[in-house]
Amino acid sequence: MVTDVAVCSTGGVVRVACVNTLGWGQNEPMDDARAVLDGIDAPLRRCLELAWESWCAGSIGVGAVVVDDRTGAIVSEGRNRVGERDAPPNTLAGTALAHAEMNALAQLPLGPVGHLTLHTSLEPCCLCAGAVALMRIPRVRYLAPDPLFDAAWDHMATHPELASRRPEQLGPGTGPASDLARLLPLSFLAFWDVATLADYSAADVDLAHAVLADTPLLDLAAAGAPLADALGAVASLLR
Ligand SMILES: [Zn+2]
Repeated sequence: MVTDVAVCSTGGVVRVACVNTLGWGQNEPMDDARAVLDGIDAPLRRCLELAWESWCAGSIGVGAVVVDDRTGAIVSEGRNRVGERDAPPNTLAGTALAHAEMNALAQLPLGPVGHLTLHTSLEPCCLCAGAVALMRIPRVRYLAPDPLFDAAWDHMATHPELASRRPEQLGPGTGPASDLARLLPLSFLAFWDVATLADYSAADVDLAHAVLADTPLLDLAAAGAPLADALGAVASLLR
């Protein structure tokens, strides 16, 4: 079960501070990992699945879906593809612009969007925040905070037109699911882009390198292991 709590107001726009998910239990890491994933609602679980798929493909490890709030159905999905050459139609790949949210939003037809919520494993960056504003997506729900681009929404609020398009924000999350959503892009940087990783805190840099050195995540990716295996594998770093 996921619960949205701790409503506060930022610049006149409602921001919900937490998307709580189940914490670690007292069982074996794999059993706890399955329980954590079973406890997440379908859109956020799909975001994590896409994030892991992205990481396994050599991209940054972020996933996103768009949900029709009238039905609860996922109507489009995308994942980060910056490290890949090939992609489905209407999907960016092999460019620094190939972000998960961009690829999910690009699948939507032109038309009303008031009933749509963008879900993503990582707080949208400046690029994706801009796309959300351009398309007037009214709500964004995310699992992990992004230390580099957390203020993107606040800067948008200083521009009158952008401020009028600022979405309701539901996030960041807490617990292992949120931790994994943060850890995947961090560890990607440790493997592929240490120059960008240097912009993060020392604790995040250490965590990113520990993922590669102290867990079997790379081996699991090479073997095509499911998401639960990935979460169980990093339990020693997150518990
Ligand atoms: Zn982005």
